[in-house]
Amino acid sequence: MDQKELAFFRDALNQNLDEILQKGQETIEDMTESGETYADPADRATAESDRAFTLRLRDRERKLIKKIQKAIKRIDDGDFGFCVACGDDISIARLKARPVTTLCIACKSRQEEEEQNRGE
Ligand SMILES: [Zn+2]
Repeated sequence: MDQKELAFFRDALNQNLDEILQKGQETIEDMTESGETYADPADRATAESDRAFTLRLRDRERKLIKKIQKAIKRIDDGDFGFCVACGDDISIARLKARPVTTLCIACKSRQEEEEQNRGE
């Protein structure tokens, strides 16, 4: 992968990160706004399950943020675009679809197959 391609992925990852952080900020604001009290217990239950959903979402966002930061670090280290399992190049098309990926398509399918065999 040449410098231009690396710069492209670095920009894409940074942009992705900004979007998630932005969305996360909005989520926090929503949660603060919905901190009102509900007279009807059913409304309260809905608000609480909304909150649980939001927190789960936040957890997923946090994991994604970590993945993106790791991908940016791999660009810095010169490891970006190489499969962590076999060391082969990961195709540009695959990276464009999913820049945080660390496995080439062959290793990824093998991993998925193994997960299925374990009944996951
Ligand atoms: Zn591989």
